[in-house]
Amino acid sequence: MRKYENEQEEKLVRVVCNQCKKKLKVEDGYLKEGCFRVDYTFGYFSRKDGTRQQFDLCEDCYDNWVKQFPIPIEECQNNELL
Ligand SMILES: [Zn+2]
Repeated sequence: MRKYENEQEEKLVRVVCNQCKKKLKVEDGYLKEGCFRVDYTFGYFSRKDGTRQQFDLCEDCYDNWVKQFPIPIEECQNNELL
């Protein structure tokens, strides 16, 4: 869950993990720790046609979630981080 200073979402003031409610570190409008952010709008062929859903998971909750997958996630090293 993200909270911004205003409706234009220009300055981030708070990020809270939707699973464990941990407050993630935000300084000067920037998130300063690992976070899995979902901002997804379901398409025409889904049961949620046009519904936008957003949530944030801290890195621990993300790790606990994906390790439950029966098929392991795929990963590789990306050295061009923004
Ligand atoms: Zn969490």
